[in-house]
Amino acid sequence: MRKQIAAANWKMNLTVDKAEALLNDILSAQINLSEDQLAVFAVPFPYLQMAQQKLNNTNNFFIAAQNCYSKKSGAITGEVSVEMLQSLGIKYVVLGHSERREFFEESNKFLAEKLNIALEYNITPVFCCGEPLSIRDAQTQNEFVAKQLEESLFHFSKDDIQKIVIAYEPIWAIGTGKTATSEQAQEMHAHLRKVLADNFGKDVADNISILYGGSVKASNAKEIFSQPDVDGGLVGGASLVADEFITIIKSLK
Ligand code: PEP
Repeated sequence: MRKQIAAANWKMNLTVDKAEALLNDILSAQINLSEDQLAVFAVPFPYLQMAQQKLNNTNNFFIAAQNCYSKKSGAITGEVSVEMLQSLGIKYVVLGHSERREFFEESNKFLAEKLNIALEYNITPVFCCGEPLSIRDAQTQNEFVAKQLEESLFHFSKDDIQKIVIAYEPIWAIGTGKTATSEQAQEMHAHLRKVLADNFGKDVADNISILYGGSVKASNAKEIFSQPDVDGGLVGGASLVADEFITIIKSLK
């Protein structure tokens, strides 16, 4: 059965004291999650170790990196490798966020290399895809997102593709306060699942968690997560406020 996941993306926010206080507040809420529900916190690199230690004794709560490089080690100043993440016990990494694609020109092909090395090191990638507003306006979002999957994911085996979490994040809804309607989210998630089913088979596609991202907050999470093909969310702004994110975690189905 596929997992239901509430994933926080802190981006480049919070100082270490604030980050620690936020995790303390969320952990003190003692949220009970079932076996197929997870909360994941994608924290900035300098806070990985602190956050990992804090979550060490919790079930179903995990720390993620927000990025990694495509090589194991070497002379690449300023980058962080999966080998380093693995040595800290990190189990998740966000890859292909639209901000990385836009500001650092990360291509589908480059992301395929990062996904390969993450799986090699047993780190679960949360692979982000999603269209800009111009594509949505032209109503070509289905083709656009299918191409992102094709170029980054279609080389995987049936076993390996099931180790990847996908996050559909329409760029026009990220940080804008403009959420896709639950119908728009369901429509795209069903499309993505069909694209995966056509390539890997229905049984495989049914096992892959597909998260929605784009202005998810406490007040809309339950409605969005209740859609049959939406398996939770990747949350930016609202994940920085303890009460908001606690409610979002509790909205998982
Ligand atoms: C994100 O950063 O992936 C995101 C969806 O941000 P926000 O929730 O702020 O729209």
